[in-house]
Amino acid sequence: MVRNVRELPIIPQIPQFVDWAYRVKKAAFHFHGLIAYNRGMSEKVDQDAGRVICDHRRQWRQCLYVYPVISRRAGGLSIGINLNPDKSCNFACVYCQIDRCAHRNLDGVNLAILHDELHLALEEAVSGRLWHESPFASTPRNLQRINDIALSGDGEPTCVDNFDEIVESVALAKAQAGRNDIKLVVITNATQLDRPQVQRALSTLDASNGEIWAKLDAGTDEYFHRVNRPHPKIPLQRILDNITLVARERAVVIQSLFFRSDSQPPPENELCAYVERLGEIIAAGGKIKLVQVHTVARVPAESFVSALGDKELDEIVGRIRSALPTLDVEAYYGYPTRS
Ligand code: SF4
Repeated sequence: MVRNVRELPIIPQIPQFVDWAYRVKKAAFHFHGLIAYNRGMSEKVDQDAGRVICDHRRQWRQCLYVYPVISRRAGGLSIGINLNPDKSCNFACVYCQIDRCAHRNLDGVNLAILHDELHLALEEAVSGRLWHESPFASTPRNLQRINDIALSGDGEPTCVDNFDEIVESVALAKAQAGRNDIKLVVITNATQLDRPQVQRALSTLDASNGEIWAKLDAGTDEYFHRVNRPHPKIPLQRILDNITLVARERAVVIQSLFFRSDSQPPPENELCAYVERLGEIIAAGGKIKLVQVHTVARVPAESFVSALGDKELDEIVGRIRSALPTLDVEAYYGYPTRS
């Protein structure tokens, strides 16, 4: 029997040493990030406000799937839906922030629980009650707005078998809350966009103010396998074909992340190839709404990975803009580095 979300047990924390060590590393990284963030803000924010913005834990109350977070980049509240609390992903990106030490065995997504949790989160946010509970009470006034619902999480969301039913359920919850205007974002590595359950979800997504944010970090197959470390049977061409497939029908957002590997910036030939791949998607009829150029902003999976500096990220943005002037391109900086 499905239990009320308020009765769900507190998710057990794994006490092993390896998990403890990860948490110490993460706390140190976030402390550095918080200081850097507060230093870089044009308006002065107090420490609590900075903390709620930097807090991207995927845990809210006792929910299994739903986790509201304040996003400075989104300019408000993003209601995250973690479709992979079991942390399953068909990539193993070298920069991934997910702590895979704390693995959990779960069998699929329970739609009834997900719907209850989302209904609760929307109710709390729409009514304004959310702004009175910790840590949201310290949210700066200008960020106290609902920006989006994002299907993402600790793995690849489109890998779940009932993805189409999930999108329908989320669209229904938005409608029931009287908030069809809230954007519904699917953050994906694009490997499954051609699967029937994802294709079936697209019309619901289109009718629900939906957007696809697709990952593209490489221009060559070799670099793709080095950075994203996909299942060996997944070639870069599949990502490119899938992005083109969905982008012919609707404009998509491309999310790309570049980083230093053993202190070295991305290879020149790789950046050229990446820009060429973007051009090929457009030439094949794909519509790109925005290219987000990110670097590392949280603890990466591999210690040889570090963030690019702001200037380096700006150079990549400039390179894309000059090769493809019709594209909208934005930089999403990491925390300041000493490089
Ligand atoms: S696709 Fe996302 S969740 Fe999967 S390994 Fe890469 S960054 Fe992590």
